This record gives sequence, structure tokens and C-alpha cells, in this order.
Amino acid sequence: MSTFTKASVRDAHIADRRVLLRADLNVPLQGGEVEDDTRIRAALPTIELLAERRAATVLCSHLGRPGGVDPDLSMAPVARRLGELIGAEVPLAPAVVGDDVLSLAEGLEPRGILCLENTRFEPGETSNDPGLADALAALAGLYVNDAFAASHRAHASTEGVAHRLPAYAGLLLEREVVELTAVRDDPVPPLVVALGGAKVSDKIGAIERFLATAERILIGGAMCFSFFRAQGRPTGDSLLDDGVELARRALERATALDCELRLPVDLVLGRSFAADTERRDRDGVDVPDGWMGLDIGPRTAASYAEAISAAGTVFWNGPMGAFELAPFAGGTRAVAEAVAAAPGRTVVGGGDSIAALNEFGLADDVDWVSTGGGASLELMEGRALPGVEALLDATEVRA
Ligand code: ADP
Ligand code: MG
Repeated sequence: MSTFTKASVRDAHIADRRVLLRADLNVPLQGGEVEDDTRIRAALPTIELLAERRAATVLCSHLGRPGGVDPDLSMAPVARRLGELIGAEVPLAPAVVGDDVLSLAEGLEPRGILCLENTRFEPGETSNDPGLADALAALAGLYVNDAFAASHRAHASTEGVAHRLPAYAGLLLEREVVELTAVRDDPVPPLVVALGGAKVSDKIGAIERFLATAERILIGGAMCFSFFRAQGRPTGDSLLDDGVELARRALERATALDCELRLPVDLVLGRSFAADTERRDRDGVDVPDGWMGLDIGPRTAASYAEAISAAGTVFWNGPMGAFELAPFAGGTRAVAEAVAAAPGRTVVGGGDSIAALNEFGLADDVDWVSTGGGASLELMEGRALPGVEALLDATEVRA
């Protein structure tokens, strides 16, 4: 059924063995507690599979961006929340690696779980230090990567360690790769892609790839102002990144490849990035000085919604406007509702887009909500994900 070519944890012999499981448990914290446990829940199927098959699990993840050991970014709240979800206490190791951690790992019973401290407490994590990868590998006999959202980074716990142990894909990572690869390589036509968010430079790689495969690309968010600038239009005080040249090139390629790159035809303007700012509907897209475009307008939203409902496959990444500000959430809501109601296959990626879906109560109406923002975009661009590449090939374990 699928294009997944890596060895799956389902095919690993794990009974009575110790498994190092890398998950992405990089959750938002609030007052020392987990604010949103979506990522912990997403890791549960693999955690439960390991337990059902009598493996002992050494679980690790990064959390935030600590510059070294930082008690505020301890994995303690994550281990606590995971314990609540699985109905068993999850002990927390005092560090990421080291003798004490090793003896705790060696003391694990089958079905036991030990949570390591934040992998980024070790400076060798992001530099993919061989010594740290060796120390992680010493904790287990087998490695499972379920951290799709971190797999575009070649870090010690995502890539380095995978070269040192038999390395398998977790269930979430596999499903992410299968769902996203299907949109990229084998979409049910017509493929309609809605892209928004803050910066065109974040998403230009995906835009370029989709120019070749999509029927139409719907541009929203602050990113549209790079395109308007490229067309020589005034963008007022709108948020603008340095992607004007990139946008110009994309417009040219769209014409050459006969892909419809659709831009907004109306906007909602504000004086500043604030919910209580003066607000004005603008039929047209020229933004006067003293104003910024903060949302797509109603005509644009209706046209985007219609395109989405006519799609065989929809991929949406990036809000259509500053949806955190209620007066400027209309365009994002309209697109989210259209995606939720679309008869075609629907896939959504991007942290803020998912936050919007959750806020509108629509996440359950989307076929696949990707947990991997940056990783899902890199996959869409056709780039290899180092944390996936390093895993065993399926042919290597079935032989
Ligand atoms: P995602 O996380 O879904 O990939 P991004 O991080 O790329 O999305 O972009 C989300 C951010 O873009 C939001 O904080 C939103 O406020 C901002 N944004 C979208 N449209 C505008 C706009 N017109 N002006 C300013 N900010 C915008
Ligand atoms: Mg974001």
C-alpha cells in the first residue's frame, strides 16, 4: 500500500530487549505543567506497542531550546503527564547519559519505561557528537525513531545513534512519511495547496515543488506581500520578509509550468498587530502607508474555499492571516472550514495551522494532521530527512 521503505518497529524482535525510543515530546509548558499534550498522545501507539511486546523502553526527547542543563526545561512534567496517560509512573533519569542513567536502564523490567532528561541538556545533541551518540547507544540494544517532527535535523538522538544500533521507524514516523509522501508524489488530482504564514522564505522550497505537481496554489498570510512587492504593488506597513526575489521567481515559474498561483484579491487591514487596532476592509490589494494587511478578505476566502472543495487532494500549511487576533481570524477560519468539509483527501501541517484547527474545533475533520512542521515542509520539498534516512531499510530486516 505504501511507499515506506524503512524497517518498521512492527517487524522488530523486541521481546525482553531494551529499546531506545526517540519521540518528539517537545510540548508547550505553562507553570511547570504540560499545556498541550498532543505530541505525547501522538507517541502513545509506539510506546504501547513496545510494552505489549515486552520490551523495556528508554524514552528520550528534546524539549525547548535550553543552552545547557536548565531546570525549567526538565522532562519531569512530560514524564508525569505520560504516566497519567498510560496509568503507570514513568521514572525520570537524572541526566541524558552517564553511569547512573545506564544502571537505571539496565534495571528496567520488561514493559518498564525510563524517561531520559532533555536531550538538549547535552551540547553534543545538536552538534551530533559521536561521543554522545555512543553513550545513547550504550543504553539499549535497539533504536526506534518516532520523532518525525525532529527527523529533519541530524542530531545525536535522531541520526547519530541510528548508525550505532539496529534502527527502526516508529508508528507515527511511518504514518507521517506515508501520508505526506502520498500528497507529494501521488496525489489524487486535482491537488490544491493552500500556503500562508509569516515568511515566504520558509516555504519557498515547498512552493517550487508544488508548482510542478499542483493544479493551483492559494497564497495567503503575510507571505502574499512578498508576491505583491514582486509585482510592484504597494504593501504599506505589512509584514514583509526578504523573499521578494524568491516570490518573483515563483511567479515566473508558475507561468512556465502552467500552475495557477492564486493571490488574494481583497484584504483586511489594520493599523498595527493588535486585536483592538483600527480595522478596515480593502477591496483590492494595494496597502496604503500607515496600514498593514492582516488577513485575506472575504472574496478571497470564498474563492479559496471553493477551490479547496473542488480538490481531489488538499494540503494546507500556514494561517491565512494573523488568526491569533480575533478580528483578523476570518480568512483562516474560512479556509480551515473548507478543508474540514472538503470531500478530497486533506492533509494539514504547521504548528500554527494546527493551533488554528484546534481553536476552531476542526482537527478531527481533517484526514491527516501532521505533527511535523519543519520536517513536513522539508519532506514536501523532496529533501532527505536524515533521521529517516539513517534507519534500516525494510529489505535489510525481512531478508
Ligand atoms: P505554521 O506554524 O502553520 O507553519 P507560520 O509559523 O509560518 O505557520 O506562520 C504563522 C504566523 O504567521 C502566525 O503567528 C500569524 O500571526 C502570522 N501571520 C499570518 N498572516 C499574517 C499577516 N498578514 N501579518 C502578520 N502576521 C501574519
Ligand atoms: Mg509556526
